[in-house]
Amino acid sequence: MKQSTSSWLLAVVLLSIVLPAAAWSNHALGTWQALSVVPEIQNAPSVAVESLGTFVSAEGRGLEQLLRQEEQWARTHVAFYPPRPDALAFHPGSSPAQQRQRFLGALRINPDAKLSLFLQTKPGAELNGQSALPWTEVTTLRRETSARRNIFLRLREGDRVALSDVVASASDEPDYGLDIGLWEDSGTLYGKRYGFGKLPFGNPALEFSSQAPFHMGFFHESAIVYKAAGFLQRTYPEYRIHLYRSLASYALRTGHPYWGWRFAGWALHYVQDLTQPYHATVLPGVSVPRMLWINTLDLLKFHAPKVRIIRLVSNRHLALENYQNCRMRAAYERHDMNDALLRAVRDTAADGNYPPYADDAARQVISSQAHAAADAADRTLERRLPAKFVSDPAYVVGETEVGLDLFVLVKTLPPTAQDDMTNLVAGLMRHFGEHSRSLVRSLLVAARS
Ligand SMILES: [Zn+2]
Repeated sequence: MKQSTSSWLLAVVLLSIVLPAAAWSNHALGTWQALSVVPEIQNAPSVAVESLGTFVSAEGRGLEQLLRQEEQWARTHVAFYPPRPDALAFHPGSSPAQQRQRFLGALRINPDAKLSLFLQTKPGAELNGQSALPWTEVTTLRRETSARRNIFLRLREGDRVALSDVVASASDEPDYGLDIGLWEDSGTLYGKRYGFGKLPFGNPALEFSSQAPFHMGFFHESAIVYKAAGFLQRTYPEYRIHLYRSLASYALRTGHPYWGWRFAGWALHYVQDLTQPYHATVLPGVSVPRMLWINTLDLLKFHAPKVRIIRLVSNRHLALENYQNCRMRAAYERHDMNDALLRAVRDTAADGNYPPYADDAARQVISSQAHAAADAADRTLERRLPAKFVSDPAYVVGETEVGLDLFVLVKTLPPTAQDDMTNLVAGLMRHFGEHSRSLVRSLLVAARS
């Protein structure tokens, strides 16, 4: 088969991929644990809540300069970066509301994002008379959102809050609609202005699918995959991480700790997403020759193998996430901080083995590690979970059975299956914790300078 023909064939299969766009269902559950072993965070004084409008109005000139530098950095360092149209550059405006809108435009995030003043509460915690905030006031998503299971607290400007709660709550926020509808073909007015081009992969008609290219990083595929399907290189977590980390550092240096740590949480989200093997590899467990073969069959009008493989990869992705989320949530609810997954996130034994956080960490360290673990993770899920969830294309995890709890189900399996699932997810959670602390420590240095 000639190279060009095989490339074209592969592009056909990959273009039709619609992958789940959330990596870990509730990032806060992991972030609280990861930071519980960082004394500088735990012992830090509480911070005063500030609205985004107040922050942006106070720092207009500085933000103008910072965002200009950020754009330059992204154009120079982010591969396949779609430059931000100059018309979106941030300039301090007149009214606070106007400045807020300009700021969101310069970040190229959903202008309808709620960005309310809120905290997430730990599952099983008491509200103690504090006022709850409906989930509809933190997310723009309605259907595909895990936020509806969380309890949120309403904050007001001037309230004093613990730093770890700010970071943990914010680490789940990028899944609340911030990256929805940003593409030219998303059917939104702002998508037409933002200059990101068309959705690289997935289905533009599915709302949640539009955030995937910001929350995934396909940096380690084989050369033939990129040759065939260049659009897979258009994933931008590095852009988001750098932007939010720079904003965090700026806010910390200029005396706005609440926004400093909230932006830090946003940056963490994308780092944490890249620890999910299905966010760092396009089709774990599927070799390139197999992709080509399936595609050939597809072109010969045997569509079933392609539909099957995409469904199975998607189901394993969702099964991994369901197990991790249900298990960690249950541990919080019964106040069992000794659960193996929570312990793994807090495990600092290997923290010192990594170099200090650097701009290329997302690509060279974090996603590379998750990519290396992807095939083995896929195999464990396939072998250890009941066939229905991982090998039956007629079954859709999260849809066929509402309220599926794979943690409860795995407890009924033989001990080897339970152990393998624990080891698999604990290994991933260990990396989640290590990379979260690495980024946060880099900001503690910025906060002191
Ligand atoms: Zn995400």
